[in-house]
Amino acid sequence: MTDTILTLNAGSSSIKFAAYAAKDVEGTPSLAGKITGILRSPEFKAVDGQGARLPGNGLDNIDLRATHDELIVRLLEWINGKLGSGNLAAVGHRVVHGGQHFLKPVLLDDTVIQELAKLNSLAPLHQPHNLAAIEVIRNQDQDLPQIACFDTGFHSTQHPLAKQFALPRSLKEDGIIRYGFHGISYDYLSSVLPEHIDEEAEGRFVIGHLGNGASLCAIKNRQSVATTMGFTALDGLMMGRRCGALDVGVVLHLLNDRNMTPKEVEDLLYNKSGLLGVSGLSNNMQDLEKSTDPAAKEAIDLYCYRTASEIGKLIPTLGGLDGIVFSAGIGENSPLVRQKVCNYFQWLGIEIDEALNKKNAPKISAKESRIKVLVVPTDEEVVIARATRKILKDMVL
Ligand code: ADP
Repeated sequence: MTDTILTLNAGSSSIKFAAYAAKDVEGTPSLAGKITGILRSPEFKAVDGQGARLPGNGLDNIDLRATHDELIVRLLEWINGKLGSGNLAAVGHRVVHGGQHFLKPVLLDDTVIQELAKLNSLAPLHQPHNLAAIEVIRNQDQDLPQIACFDTGFHSTQHPLAKQFALPRSLKEDGIIRYGFHGISYDYLSSVLPEHIDEEAEGRFVIGHLGNGASLCAIKNRQSVATTMGFTALDGLMMGRRCGALDVGVVLHLLNDRNMTPKEVEDLLYNKSGLLGVSGLSNNMQDLEKSTDPAAKEAIDLYCYRTASEIGKLIPTLGGLDGIVFSAGIGENSPLVRQKVCNYFQWLGIEIDEALNKKNAPKISAKESRIKVLVVPTDEEVVIARATRKILKDMVL
């Protein structure tokens, strides 16, 4: 019986997955896990529906040279071994870029895949890996429905001015606009906001998805009105390895006066900048927080300053601010970052309750704070599973 929906999030250095009962994706996934550190220090971790650690068997000792494609094949074997072969009803994928045309989740076929491949250069860290995973599964089972959910989709509601660059209009017509990313995460976070603050959820919020990649989204009535990532996932906040917003004159200088090649500049901006570049130590916030090196402190300070500045830039698009939501690895787990970012907004009446902040409590603003500050764990997988289930149901009807 085909009773399971599998979600896959195949990124540049990790593959995350979760398996849901097709009839009720709101429940806990029966399997969930990830392979991290691909081609660096690969590691497999998985748990069952009760949260118990599962052995990886062949995946426990992954060869350093194992490619993304090989790992997808081995992961599927492992998943099929657990679920029983032929049990998958569909696979839902996170696909970073949907371009101008794919705003909603879509069933994948040859034409759609070809269109999505044209967007590879707009998200070089992610899109090719997302599509490669789809291709590997198609090669194994042509008939298994596969669905793509787009990180750009949630931002289609952005204010028209928030989407536009001050460039000649012919470029806008060619699709050179601010798309925004992390939309699957923002979709989830705005869907659960009423559980935390009832009808106030319809107000003016800035949500921070602060993981390895990081962005902010300004929402009103739980819809995106502006976001910090733009044409690519390079814009906006300082990230683990990415620089975020940068004077484009620096790029011209590196190309013209330092004779760097475009590829070298790309590598510098995507892989050697951000927390890693500034600290010279690590892209990992937890490691930097433990370090006593002044360069680590400087990197954290810059990260928080830049995050606060970008929050500030979004407030006019909302016409004010009712709350800030912190999410993803850093947002959910770092009291230090949350405190430092919020300190920049004391003038606006934001006050953090230190004890609640230390506990990563769902609401960390003090009673007297004029603006609410929340910590809400994200769950991109369930959004993908919901969309996959809906398309499957539509296919049957
Ligand atoms: P990804 O974007 O790969 O999904 P995550 O959302 O898991 O990444 O975020 C990873 C980041 O979260 C890393 O910088 C990591 O150090 C940071 N992080 C995780 N736990 C903590 C913690 N307890 N304190 C500070 N940072 C943390």
